[in-house]
Amino acid sequence: TVRTRIAPSPTGDPHVGTAYIALFNLCFARQHGGKFILRIEDTDRVRSTPESEQMILDSLSWLGLEWDEGPDVGGPHGPYRQSERGDIYARYAQQLLDEGHAFVCYRTSDELDELRETRKAAGMQLALKPADLALPDEEVARRKQEGWPHVVRMQVPTQGVCVVQDMLRGKIDVEWAQVDAQILLKSDGMPTYHLANVVDDHLMGITHVLRGEEWINSAPKHQLLYEYFGWDMPQLCHMPLLRNPDKSKLSKRKNPTSINYYRRMGFLPQAVTNYLGRMGWSMPDEREKFSLDEMMAQFDIQRVSLGGPVFDLEKLTWLNGVYLREDLDDSAFLKALMDWAFNEAYVSKILPQVRPRVETLAQVAPLAGHFFSGLPSITKESFSSAKLEDETLVKLLQFLVWRFENVPAWHKDALLEEVKTLAEYFELKMKAFLAPVFIAITGSSSSTSVMDAMAILGSDVTRARLRHAIE
Ligand code: ATP
Ligand code: GLU
Repeated sequence: TVRTRIAPSPTGDPHVGTAYIALFNLCFARQHGGKFILRIEDTDRVRSTPESEQMILDSLSWLGLEWDEGPDVGGPHGPYRQSERGDIYARYAQQLLDEGHAFVCYRTSDELDELRETRKAAGMQLALKPADLALPDEEVARRKQEGWPHVVRMQVPTQGVCVVQDMLRGKIDVEWAQVDAQILLKSDGMPTYHLANVVDDHLMGITHVLRGEEWINSAPKHQLLYEYFGWDMPQLCHMPLLRNPDKSKLSKRKNPTSINYYRRMGFLPQAVTNYLGRMGWSMPDEREKFSLDEMMAQFDIQRVSLGGPVFDLEKLTWLNGVYLREDLDDSAFLKALMDWAFNEAYVSKILPQVRPRVETLAQVAPLAGHFFSGLPSITKESFSSAKLEDETLVKLLQFLVWRFENVPAWHKDALLEEVKTLAEYFELKMKAFLAPVFIAITGSSSSTSVMDAMAILGSDVTRARLRHAIE
C-alpha cells in the first residue's frame, strides 16, 4: 500500500510550504487508498522546540490535513519523533561502518575550511571526498587516543554520474564529483537529516516521497544510502517551490510565510487549503474553487506543473471572499468569527491589556481593535506624534523588521531585548524608540501596550504591520 509522509523540522513558525507539501502527500496517499504519516525531524537539538512542533501540528489540523500516524496519534512504526530514535540511527551508522560504506573522520572545522580554501584557489571541485579527508594512520590514532571530536561520514564515488529518477522530472543526472562525503553522525552522536531521513523512510514503509525541489541535491546521497543498506528506495517526487509574485522563492523577508499569519488575518482554513491545492496543480475542469475531498477524489500527480507557482496574497484574499459569500450561511459565519478571534482563549489573552485601561465596557472595542484587524490604515501623518525624521523612522522600522525575522522564540522578553539593542543603536530612549512602533502596530497613538500587542499578535502579523507602515 501507498504510504507518504510530511517530515517537518520544528525550528520555527509553521511554514505554508510545509502545508503545501503535506496537502500533496495527503492527496496522493488518499487517491491510492494509502496512509499519510507525520514525522517530526528534530535532530537539530539547538533549533528545535516543542512550541514549534505543537504549532505545526495545530496548523496542519486547522487546515484539515489529517495524518494517520504521528507523534500525537501514535501508530505501528513509532516513535515518530527523530529525537527519540537515537539508538536506531547509531545502529545503522555502525552497520555502514562495519561494511566499509562509512568512515570515522577526525578532521577539525579549521582543517576543513583550509581544505576548501586550497581547493577553491586551485579551481578544483569543492566537494570533499574520503581521500581528501584522510589523515596519516598515526595522526588518526593520536586523535582517537586523545578523544578528539569526530563524525561519521559516508563513502562516495569520485567519478561517474548518478542518475536519480523523479516522478515528475524523469531522470536527473548529478556528477558524483559534486557530491561530498556527507556527514551521517555528528560529533554529538546525533544523525544528520540524510541518515535519519533514509532510515526512517525505510522503517516506516514510505513508498513515495513528495518533497520540495530544494532537496534534489540530496537525492544522490539518499539513493546511495539505500544501495548500501540494500533497501528499495521510495519513489521520489520533487515539487516546485512556492514563489513570491516577483518569482523569487517565497520567503519571510518578502511575504508572510507562517500559517499562523493567515489564521490571525482571518482567512478560512478551507480557502487556504484550496489555494494551496492550486499551487502548480489544477482540477481536470480547471475550476478554482474546490474542497479537500474533491481534490483528493480527482488527484493526479501528473497534473503538477513545474513552473514555479506564485503564492499571491491578493488571489488568496479573493478566494477567501468567495468562500465567505458562497459557503457560509449566517450560523456558519458566526461560528467562523468565533473560531477566529471571538473566543475565550483569544479574548482572555487580551483582557489583561484592556482591563486596567477602561471605565466602561463600551471602551473595550475601540481600545482593542488592533487585536481584531489586519493591517491598520496608516499615512505619513500618522507618525507626526513620534517626532522623528522620515529617514530615521523608516530605518528604525526596517531594522526592527530584520531583527524580528531571527527571533527564535516569540516571547515578550525576547522582543524586549531586540528593542533595547536597537534603541541603543539609534541612541533613543525606549519611549521615543517605541513611539513609531506603537503607531505601526496599533494604528493609533494611544492604545494598549505595544510590547504585549506584538507578543500576542505573533511574528508574521507584527512584521507585516511594520513593513506596511514603511511601504
Ligand atoms: P524563509 O526563507 O521564509 O526563512 P526557509 O526556507 O528558511 O524560509 P525553513 O524554516 O527552512 O524556511 O523551512 C520550513 C519548511 O518550509 C521546510 O520544510 C521547507 O521545505 C518549506 N519551505 C520553505 N520555503 C518554501 C517554499 N518557497 N516553497 C515550499 N516550501 C518551502
Ligand atoms: N525535514 C525536512 C524538511 O524540513 C524533510 C525533507 C524531506 O521531506 O525529505 O523539509
